[in-house]
Amino acid sequence: MSPAEMTRRTRDLAAELGLEHVRIARAAPVPRADYIRQWVKDGKAGEMAYLYKYQDIRDDPAALLSGAAAVVVVADPYPAGVDMPGGKHPATAGTDHRPGPGGAVPPDGSPAADNSGPRGRIARYAWGRDYHRVLRRKLQRLADAMRRELPGPFQTRVCVDTAPVVERELAAAAGLGWIGKNTMVIDERAGSYFFLGEILTTLPLQPDAPVADRCGTCTRCLQACPTGALVEPYRMDARRCIAYLTIEHRSSIPPELAAGMGNWLFGCDVCQEVCPYNRRPMRTVDPAYAPGSGRSWSPAAPLAEVLACDDETCRRRVQGTAMRRATPEMLRRNARIALENLSGSGRAG
Ligand code: SF4
Ligand code: SF4
Repeated sequence: MSPAEMTRRTRDLAAELGLEHVRIARAAPVPRADYIRQWVKDGKAGEMAYLYKYQDIRDDPAALLSGAAAVVVVADPYPAGVDMPGGKHPATAGTDHRPGPGGAVPPDGSPAADNSGPRGRIARYAWGRDYHRVLRRKLQRLADAMRRELPGPFQTRVCVDTAPVVERELAAAAGLGWIGKNTMVIDERAGSYFFLGEILTTLPLQPDAPVADRCGTCTRCLQACPTGALVEPYRMDARRCIAYLTIEHRSSIPPELAAGMGNWLFGCDVCQEVCPYNRRPMRTVDPAYAPGSGRSWSPAAPLAEVLACDDETCRRRVQGTAMRRATPEMLRRNARIALENLSGSGRAG
């Protein structure tokens, strides 16, 4: 079987497994390795200790699998809020990004206006079941199918946000989208609400070409970021990012940043919500990623309940979802900040 035939068959196998967004990158050093090293060196990764390790491997995916020739990169969409069963989900309907005492608070069907009390928003990627497990299973199935159908012997290694791989760089190199000014990978038709996963392989699959940057003169994400984390186009200071602050940052949060966190309890979607390419994304979402498919509070948690939760209850509520990344203590801290922001006092940190 020629490399072209193997590549075609790999795509077909992926499609048969419901993976629609699949492209191939060469297993070669990532183009912006120097920039990423400098970013980490400048301390912009904050307390994300894992980013300070394995930088050589991060520079070159081939270091993860001896003889690797190609990387099959998969984008698996999660809910955008417009394609939920029954239409627009209340937590995302008419989202208002104007700055205010509570930051980006949805004005209608608003968590803050909910009868059961103020609610804290949860980033879309954490609404359903933990993508690490869901996507890993899909990629493992694809790797198994490749092993059955393609001429061997060859090696594969599945990665989903766990191995030291710069997923966005690989996705961009594979042409799954361009890295936008908000630092997310954006596909012109599918937007940016998707998980990324990879299969490294020693198979000589044919790489796809990168796509052109279509951000143009738009600067919506930079203007909308509530904490000024997008310090310039294509550059993020993670230490200021609400996603980092609510999920990765364990120590106390400086008051000036806490005030910008609005009612985000876990993560932040603002720079994706304002992106025109996410207005009507064309893709199918796995029901496993929909709210309620996990056991958690998604898509918006009652803040008083989070604040009152003991560690064990809190862990039970986030079990099986990506929210387990934050400790109960961090979730209570985030809930306290969200409540203070909603009340307008904004003193928490
Ligand atoms: S996720 Fe939120 S805080 Fe982080 S860069 Fe985007 S808008 Fe800013
Ligand atoms: S909001 Fe505009 S500038 Fe930002 S990523 Fe989307 S298209 Fe690019």
